[in-house]
Amino acid sequence: MSRTFLGMPATAPRGVGHLRGEEPFPAAARRGLADPQLRRNLGHATTTIRAKSGAVIGELPDWQALRAAGSAIKADVLARLPELLEQLEAAVTAAGGTVHWAADAVEANRIVTDLVAATGSDRVIKVKSMATQEIGLNEALEAAGIAAVETDLAELIVQLGEDRPSHILVPAIHRNRAEIREIFLRAMPGVDPSLTDDPPALAAAARRFLRETFLATRVAVSGVNFAVAETGTLAVVESEGNGRMCLTLPETLITVMGVEKVVPTWRDLEVFLQLLPRASTGERMNPYTSMWTGVTPGDGPQAFHLVLLDNGRSAVLADEVGRQALHCIRCSACLNVCPVYERTGGHAYGSVYPGPIGAVLSPQLTGVEDNASLPYASTLCGACYDACPVKINIPELLVHLRDQVPHPRSEAAAMAAAAYVMDRPALYAAAQRAARLSRLAGRRGRGLPPPLSGWTIGRDLPQPPPRTFREWWAQR
Ligand code: SF4
Repeated sequence: MSRTFLGMPATAPRGVGHLRGEEPFPAAARRGLADPQLRRNLGHATTTIRAKSGAVIGELPDWQALRAAGSAIKADVLARLPELLEQLEAAVTAAGGTVHWAADAVEANRIVTDLVAATGSDRVIKVKSMATQEIGLNEALEAAGIAAVETDLAELIVQLGEDRPSHILVPAIHRNRAEIREIFLRAMPGVDPSLTDDPPALAAAARRFLRETFLATRVAVSGVNFAVAETGTLAVVESEGNGRMCLTLPETLITVMGVEKVVPTWRDLEVFLQLLPRASTGERMNPYTSMWTGVTPGDGPQAFHLVLLDNGRSAVLADEVGRQALHCIRCSACLNVCPVYERTGGHAYGSVYPGPIGAVLSPQLTGVEDNASLPYASTLCGACYDACPVKINIPELLVHLRDQVPHPRSEAAAMAAAAYVMDRPALYAAAQRAARLSRLAGRRGRGLPPPLSGWTIGRDLPQPPPRTFREWWAQR
């Protein structure tokens, strides 16, 4: 019997999965800031992706209309999510698949582990999937004696290095090629000991290892980018062809899908298949788009299971402002334009969802108290909103979430002082005169004095105007 009750929200449980960091964002960010290699890699990768993406988006005269359509479709999906999920369940079942409902990470892990155990296999191959990382599926499988092999090259590097992904699209962005060579030599079975750090040689080593694994593994686990309710069709987009192998070669396919990934019709899917590659990898279309509907006798996996995952999503849905975070199609465009992410890297966010989307999604999935520092991991510059292909107003969400956590002491003290001064006209006028005096004294460009100096280390101190509004008004 289903234990997921949409409209009865519960947050993602503690002690399982990867939505909570071990320390607050500022402490974790300090490590990223102190790593020059990481900052170089991040700067190079985000600049390159931004340029590619900007060029292909510029080719489309109707990009803004596409964004509006994507946003409207997602709003419609969330408004009638239960109905669409039941339609999807009926269509997948009619096509020979089996649908399972998982209220949270614990239940999803149990369902997948039981399904794999029932096949008798002690190994699964995996297509890169944020949802399975979110619930800690690999660890759950390992505890049951089942090895999970990541087949996306970057995910494989992260897995063999016993590491964590730091970017949605480029999970091993924090590694250079010498480190990758060392990881392969140490952890990849059967690797040639004379392996160099030449990128084609590294790719060839991974290909050899993965090819053997694909051919010898009977069960695959995937995530999903979109699920079409009207036909029960699932879609995975990727760039390396490993997804295509995972989705077609094994006898059993198990797909874990966050409930928000459903779209009503194929016409809706068309919008996202234009938005996602351009915003994500800067391509006109994804190199591999795999779609499947249930089971086709004699072709592809002969057993298909779809696990519909809630894990806090109903709680997000219950918040009329916060729910727009569920529009996300995981393109990572917001990461690539974020000045905070570009300097700290993904590990600082503690969750599998880094960057601006992580700062608004993770706290909502876990309950804001468990990720209270993340809504502050932003300058509120708004670049993420402009870049988002489905127009998620991330700055609005950040402010909305900041309202739900205790404000940092320094901010609360500054606001209280400002309120006190603004409440007293004479004091306010004196403060304005003092600010002008500092201008005359030539403080411009020198920043604020201690203890406020930290604020102006990386910012220009605005020059007070020569005349206040009150003076201007009085002269008229
Ligand atoms: S929030 Fe928008 S820009 Fe960021 S990953 Fe999601 S869809 Fe992409």
